Amino acid sequence: MTEACTLCPRRCGARRDETRGGGFCRLPDTMRIARIAPHLWEEPPISGQRGTGAVFFSGCTLRCVYCQNRAVSHTGEGRAFTPAELAESLRRLVEEKGVHTVSFITATPFTERILETLAIYRPPVPLVWNTSGYETVETLRRLEGIIDIYLPDLKHLTPRMAKLCCGAPDYFEAASAAIREMVRQTGLPQIGEDGIMRRGTLIRHLILPGLTGESVALLEWVKENLPGGIPVSVMSQYVPNPDSGVPGLNRRITKRETARVEEALLRLGLPGFTQEQSSASEDYVPGFNGDGDFV
Ligand code: SF4
Repeated sequence: MTEACTLCPRRCGARRDETRGGGFCRLPDTMRIARIAPHLWEEPPISGQRGTGAVFFSGCTLRCVYCQNRAVSHTGEGRAFTPAELAESLRRLVEEKGVHTVSFITATPFTERILETLAIYRPPVPLVWNTSGYETVETLRRLEGIIDIYLPDLKHLTPRMAKLCCGAPDYFEAASAAIREMVRQTGLPQIGEDGIMRRGTLIRHLILPGLTGESVALLEWVKENLPGGIPVSVMSQYVPNPDSGVPGLNRRITKRETARVEEALLRLGLPGFTQEQSSASEDYVPGFNGDGDFV
């Protein structure tokens, strides 16, 4: 059994054992994973031509109402893995599939088990920590010198929307401190001659319907608080969840909303990425927990 868990900003203090988890994330101490496979749909410096070796961990410390990966993030669907088993999967991703990077996706509740995994096998490619941004500085410091690239979301500015969408009114307070720490650890992005990122922090922001004012304010925060050169990936692929229970989230974003946020990115001179609205489809959600979903 672990000590009282404080790995994420919820700081539940839950006692998690091999099979049970009593905290908000409901996750046991044993790693649960829903997919391990090359993934081509991240930003080009992460995926390249052959993909990132994506490890999708089950469960989530936020469980946003609009999550595209609800099957895995909300229900905890997945299979138990030991560090030795995950280390073997990482080896296959690198040696057999030739991935450019390895990505740990929503991995925070399993931070200690991942460190054990990397002590067994450290892939010889950049390691990516793909996160909701809802992290503590203390947990991130455990990863310093081990994780090469941070890929945090920056989702909400106001406590009201963060509470409505993620049940975390302290989201911005936590995520902004976490992103400052990520940038402190990794510095400005370093891109190799092959176009693959070696080191750095790349922030992601998903535009939500009716909330472009928050989007622009978040971009302004990046401009005013982080060193120039930190890229932002503005994502337009919001897929409405009719059961979200949050007023206004039951429609797609409009072209005008996308244009407003992309114009702000340009006006502020932030480097970054934008995304075709045509990717707003559940077709882009990978399969989870099937026999073909693990290398
Ligand atoms: S990782 Fe899970 S159990 Fe630990 S503090 Fe966060 S929500 Fe609670």
